[in-house]
Amino acid sequence: MSKPDIAPPPLRNDCFALPAGVNWTPVDEALALLRDRLTVVTGVETAPLRQAAGRILAGDVLAQRSNPPQPNTAVDGYGFAGAVPEGPCVLPVLQGRAAAGFPFAGEVPQGYALRVLTGAALPKGVETVILEEDVTLELGHIAFRGPLKQGANTRKAGEDVVEGALALPAGRRLTPADMALLSAVGLAEVSVRKALRVGVLSTGDELVEPGDAAGPGQIYDANRPMLLSLVERIGFEAVDLGRAEDDRAALSRHLDCAAQRVDVIVTSGGASAGDEDHVSALLREAGAMHEWRIALKPGRPLALGMWDQTPVFGLPGNPVAAMVCTLIFARPALSLMAGEGWQEPQGFEVPAAFAKRKKPGRREYLRARIRGGQAEAFHSEGSGRISGLSWADGLVEIGDGAREIKPGDLVRFIPYGSFGL
Ligand code: AMP
Ligand code: MG
Repeated sequence: MSKPDIAPPPLRNDCFALPAGVNWTPVDEALALLRDRLTVVTGVETAPLRQAAGRILAGDVLAQRSNPPQPNTAVDGYGFAGAVPEGPCVLPVLQGRAAAGFPFAGEVPQGYALRVLTGAALPKGVETVILEEDVTLELGHIAFRGPLKQGANTRKAGEDVVEGALALPAGRRLTPADMALLSAVGLAEVSVRKALRVGVLSTGDELVEPGDAAGPGQIYDANRPMLLSLVERIGFEAVDLGRAEDDRAALSRHLDCAAQRVDVIVTSGGASAGDEDHVSALLREAGAMHEWRIALKPGRPLALGMWDQTPVFGLPGNPVAAMVCTLIFARPALSLMAGEGWQEPQGFEVPAAFAKRKKPGRREYLRARIRGGQAEAFHSEGSGRISGLSWADGLVEIGDGAREIKPGDLVRFIPYGSFGL
């Protein structure tokens, strides 16, 4: 049979290079756009303190009481007035004591000392405390050696937080430490944001549920369990929206239903511009799609759009790209919509334990971990290598420009924890 005389496409010498003439948006520009355009979408409710940990403050919280509320002693010992000069000092000890929760009712006259226990309010006349380990107690007197500054071993009222001062700002996601602070300054309940409901939908005819039989050409849906867990760990309410086939009508029904149930829809797969990329196609048809060709590896095509007034984050199907795009793009965007404000992950510079040459034109994130104070990179950059995500403790971020990294050179490491994981 004669074959048609058609030429193969010119061999692409550099098939991973960015397409010529196409505008790839730098990561920072894409982030700035999201930051500019998104706003808080969650309502407000009151939560008792016990239920408030992990929630986001809806308004500034002012201290209702100073911490400490009154001057008190920082140690067990003896309290008296004034300072003590260099040299020995002997003071008569009064009857009674001041303990935490049991203030001393009387006044301590100048030249006398009183037994005081840690946390006790300083009685009238007491300004300074000497540690019990530093005194000899005999014949109703204490003897110790100066010098001792006035106010030694005591805590001033409000030295930590003054009544009426800002204890915690709006947008703060409450930590265990914040529970202590809010309690100490007298709050029993706080005004918090309602949880941002984030729906997670997988797309692709090839996907089957973990646990089901997988035929040839089928793969287990890895993204949905990962994304649901990411959403929860970052601090939002994850809603499982299931899977949609690569079929526009089916996907459209899924999105309609999702838009009623959640504040934000996160999809994975079908976000590029190919024949089976129905997420981007549908959003484009709906007239509310912005294809984000981001200069980012792994990642690149993101389909951001609105479906029935609900924002849709169309992530790439590749699990590695899906996770990186979630951490880099979705997380700050979701945080902003949730009322937490834009969250920049904090990284730090560490010596690289690897070598890498990188071309200019896009930012790269490597799966990495810290061992012996150095950043190791996963042995493969393949974006299908899910095991590398588990192997890693975080990401190494390599800026948009060209870079030649040699072992020992400083690279920026961002631990997973800095993304809220
Ligand atoms: P797509 O963006 O739909 O072209 O998908 C890109 C690659 O990611 C393909 O190899 C898909 O099979 C794979 N993929 C898409 N969705 C998932 C998923 N939920 N779990 C695992 N792999 C996926
Ligand atoms: Mg697909």
